[in-house]
Amino acid sequence: MNSNQDRYLALFKQRFFLDNDLIEIDGKARRIMSCVLIIGAGAAGQVTAKKCVMTPNVFSEIHVASRTYSRCQSLQRDCGGAIHIHQLDADIVEDTVALINRIKPQLVINMALPYQDLAIMTACLKTKTHYMDTANYEPKDEAKFSYSWQWAYHDRFKAINRMALLGSGFDPGVTNVFIKYAHDYLFDTITAIDIIDCNDGNHGHPFATNFNPEINIREITQDGRYYDHGEWITVPALSVNHTIDFPEVGPRKAYLLYHEELESLMTHFPTIERIRFWMTFSDTYLTHLNVLQNVGMTQIHPIDFNGQAIVPLEFLKAVLPNPASLSLNYTGKTCIGCRITGTISGKTQTKLIYNVCYHQDCHNEVQAQAVSYTTGVPAMIGAKMILNGTWSGSGVFNMEQFDAKPFMAALMEDGLPWSVIDCATPLD
Ligand code: NDP
Repeated sequence: MNSNQDRYLALFKQRFFLDNDLIEIDGKARRIMSCVLIIGAGAAGQVTAKKCVMTPNVFSEIHVASRTYSRCQSLQRDCGGAIHIHQLDADIVEDTVALINRIKPQLVINMALPYQDLAIMTACLKTKTHYMDTANYEPKDEAKFSYSWQWAYHDRFKAINRMALLGSGFDPGVTNVFIKYAHDYLFDTITAIDIIDCNDGNHGHPFATNFNPEINIREITQDGRYYDHGEWITVPALSVNHTIDFPEVGPRKAYLLYHEELESLMTHFPTIERIRFWMTFSDTYLTHLNVLQNVGMTQIHPIDFNGQAIVPLEFLKAVLPNPASLSLNYTGKTCIGCRITGTISGKTQTKLIYNVCYHQDCHNEVQAQAVSYTTGVPAMIGAKMILNGTWSGSGVFNMEQFDAKPFMAALMEDGLPWSVIDCATPLD
């Protein structure tokens, strides 16, 4: 048993000495011991599971279910046996319902793929269970994501007095929380937002994606989209870029993308005049992506190959490195934040709220790279907010609909510290 497994086992044993009752925190009753079901044992799901194991005062019983059982087994070994595991195809609603009825979790954390969102939400409705995820629904046969499908479940979650929390990763997730924090505690009014995401790391492979390759490539090859003074503007994929000075990294070329939090933030803060999302890509990454696109390897519709229907992008995923395998030799860091412009006491100001995360620190802590870590940790924190009653409600919610302060405090404690700095000017 290695030292990490020892650590997880020690935390697991510690659980037996904790109390399963309600306790009082800040004058409110909080439940501190809870059973959770994590669906998806991939790159980010593994981080969430390990961070839940490391938070025994909240998560007393942790179940992980995923399509490929061997990935659950290897995660269980890594966790020193501190989790229960199950094979599950979450596309089959009845199977998820049966598993939930058997283990009776208070919350299902969906760390599978966006394709499974609606099926898992339906299973939660049928079993009266809270739901949470990190990415919004996307139909498999169309590269299009939108919250509208999941928002349509609001009344049904409300009717059963349960909560569905959408997008508790980093972006979306922490970025929404940063903006809510700025809105409630830093600015009088907010006029413009640029969400900026830089991975300045090096994994040593000629081409690899940092999260699920299929979802990643579908996102990046879509048209760019942003909101500016009353209208949504669409631009061809990766056609607009800007050199952005990332703190602790330096100036990097970032590309304008459409990203899901733009939709929810414009819905909840309709007076914002402009909102954009920027992500860095290396020239090598873009050259590989161009070639793959040009030869048809990023197509999402089936083609006939020797009498067998195969989806080129699914095949490409099978030959690319698994994002969960990248961490060992990954160097460098990520820097993700929100540049927010607004007024404070009548003066226009721009502030940047950001986190910097080092790939090797994540590897040393949970054997993951920083992109999985920055997704998996906020998922654990979102679950914690629901289970201890800090965030509560009936219906379907986005992150910016709750008080940002407790989540921001948890980021500091759970491995994603953040800073706020002043910027001389907004981005052009
Ligand atoms: P991975 O591909 O590494 O992991 C996905 C996991 O889900 C795999 O274990 C996979 O099983 C499992 N899975 C897929 N389909 C099913 C199914 N039908 N039933 C049960 N399990 C299934 O992806 P990542 O961990 O990189 O990403 C996970 C999620 O996180 C994605 O939705 C992604 O979009 C989101 N994400 C969010 C970010 C954010 O900041 N908000 C950032 C990065 C990712 P198998 O092993 O069989 O393939």
